[in-house]
Amino acid sequence: MIDFLEGVKEWLVGFFGLPALLKLLQTNDYSQFMSWNGISALMGPLIPFLLVFEIIRMAFYRRFKVVDYRISFFSLVINSFIGRIISIGMVSICIGLFGRYAIFKTEITWYWLIYGYVIWEFGHFIYHFLAHKVRLFWCLHSTHHAPETMNLSVNFAHFFLEAPYADLIRTTTCILLGVSPALLFLIMFIDGFWGSFIHIGENISKDGRFGFLNKIILTPSHHRVHHAKNALYMDTNFCNLLPIWDHVFKTYQEEDKTVKIEYGITREMKKHSFLDAYFGEIVLLAKDVWRAPGIKNKFLYIFMPPGWSHTKDHKTAKIVRSEYLKNYKPEMANS
Ligand SMILES: [Zn+2]
Ligand SMILES: [Zn+2]
Repeated sequence: MIDFLEGVKEWLVGFFGLPALLKLLQTNDYSQFMSWNGISALMGPLIPFLLVFEIIRMAFYRRFKVVDYRISFFSLVINSFIGRIISIGMVSICIGLFGRYAIFKTEITWYWLIYGYVIWEFGHFIYHFLAHKVRLFWCLHSTHHAPETMNLSVNFAHFFLEAPYADLIRTTTCILLGVSPALLFLIMFIDGFWGSFIHIGENISKDGRFGFLNKIILTPSHHRVHHAKNALYMDTNFCNLLPIWDHVFKTYQEEDKTVKIEYGITREMKKHSFLDAYFGEIVLLAKDVWRAPGIKNKFLYIFMPPGWSHTKDHKTAKIVRSEYLKNYKPEMANS
């Protein structure tokens, strides 16, 4: 129950734009309020609080009319979910285009649910693996890895084109392999919930492993590992609920409590900068392509993994991690 309330509190603090302000207040350095950072931290919570104040006041005077808020409300929803909406369109397009090529038809029964889930996880694995291994797709996915702490708000950190791209791959995989649309939507619902839930931070669930469940399903602990930039953890745990494909493709990694998770991406980032989190990787890729000698190198920068270099001085996750593993001994209690 306390965990749940903590979660609600975390969500409200985020919704009301308070994190930056709370951080500033903790430093006790009030001169910062004269800087751009300070001013934007003060401005952030203003509108959400005003909105609530306004609604309460109107309700008190019995002047509150839903219709007055319709345009603003929908603009807010469209802006925050525009990616979601394109992606729902994408799901329908994929069903329409590929439905007829399905190898067979499934229904909603417990065994087809298991089959469908395994297939969905496979589609998810392909999308997520490519998002980390093809530099162009990393540009879309890196926004989600930019936050340097873990909490439920990380669920909102996505580039708007990522969801359509993810669903193109996941839906097509499922539809071609016979997962019926009804079953697919059920799986998407479960996956949507669990995929959000695994982002709970240490202040809600410190351990995040949920005891023996950690051996069976993918827990917040596994997903924290995925969000870590430590050499040991880089590019592991691509699954969402069932870590089957991580086991199959040898990308499974449990949290080693002696290797403390450091969240974020490996390059130097402008601290808490939205613009850098959203467009940073695109700018860097454009620069690399521009500077690369010859058309072949330009092409390779776009499609090779992040860290690939035409000078052959590669710093890909695969190289960094295997270097680290040479001298790594897993914590005994964990294995
Ligand atoms: Zn990822
Ligand atoms: Zn995540």
